[in-house]
Amino acid sequence: MIDNSETDAHAIYNAPFMDLLYRAQRVHRAHFEPSTIQCSKLLSIKTGGCPEDCSYCSQSARYDSELSASKMMEVQKVLNEARKAKAAGATRYCMGAAWRSPKARDMPGVLAMVRGVKEMGLETCMTLGMLTDDQAAQLREAGLDYYNHNIDTSERYYAEVITSRTFADRLDTLDRVRAAGINVCSGGIVGMGETADDRIDMLRTLASLEEPPESVPINMLMPMKGTPMADMAPLDPIEMVRTIATARILMPRAYVRLSAGRSEMSDELQALCFFAGANSIFVGDTLLTADNPGEDKDALLFNKLNLRAEVAEATPCPKPAEARAQEQAA
Ligand code: SF4
Repeated sequence: MIDNSETDAHAIYNAPFMDLLYRAQRVHRAHFEPSTIQCSKLLSIKTGGCPEDCSYCSQSARYDSELSASKMMEVQKVLNEARKAKAAGATRYCMGAAWRSPKARDMPGVLAMVRGVKEMGLETCMTLGMLTDDQAAQLREAGLDYYNHNIDTSERYYAEVITSRTFADRLDTLDRVRAAGINVCSGGIVGMGETADDRIDMLRTLASLEEPPESVPINMLMPMKGTPMADMAPLDPIEMVRTIATARILMPRAYVRLSAGRSEMSDELQALCFFAGANSIFVGDTLLTADNPGEDKDALLFNKLNLRAEVAEATPCPKPAEARAQEQAA
């Protein structure tokens, strides 16, 4: 029995490593098929020029990250990309915009993207910053399945990472998303100089929401040039595994996503993360701006670990280049 209490969450996170992994894998098997991974594709629909000051982010206009800002993509271009992602095995299409919050003039385009991607039979996810009640309702009406809004870290450490909005602002948007009837995707980033207690408290906050998130991305910081966290020392990867295992145990029904940082991880570390309960990844060469392993590398990893994508036909995910070429030739 888990009560999300401070003592319980600390005891879980700090348990002997083998006990932690064994418990996480048992919880995982009680709720999910252990060799099945949900594959999402992420597209940046509006890159850079963000007014927020998230210390890890190359898209903030406040840092000299050499990233050039772009306008919102045209709807048709987004739909073309979504079609390609579906063909490559993605079941969920996530669209992200570097905004503090969407403006009224942005909404018609954003809603058209949701409708179009939904019509393709893909699950839809968006991350657009803070939302009003009305914007959340419009997104739901258009068919949005998931809204991503990470709490990033513990409430205690939050101001060390972001000062342009508060931890409470994040929770307010999560409430609005939930009230609109949209599934919640919310997680955080490890390796930002936080303590283990911060990682535990971040997970406790998520697990203690009235309804915990359906999707919990756990990102490993990828230090970005020009940002205040550019020179952050790497976190011991075992702490990443402990974070994932604790997320799995505290939120047994959530998809725990092994998100940013996979391009820097060995196959062995990723395998350990999957064993600890991660069962969702982003596929493709890039995330919003950071590197990702790419489809061929993931195809090899999936083959090596006998992992399968979460689709009815059990298509290997992602497909190797050879299979894609055969399909195109057919
Ligand atoms: S993480 Fe999002 S809100 Fe923060 S600076 Fe980057 S794009 Fe803006």
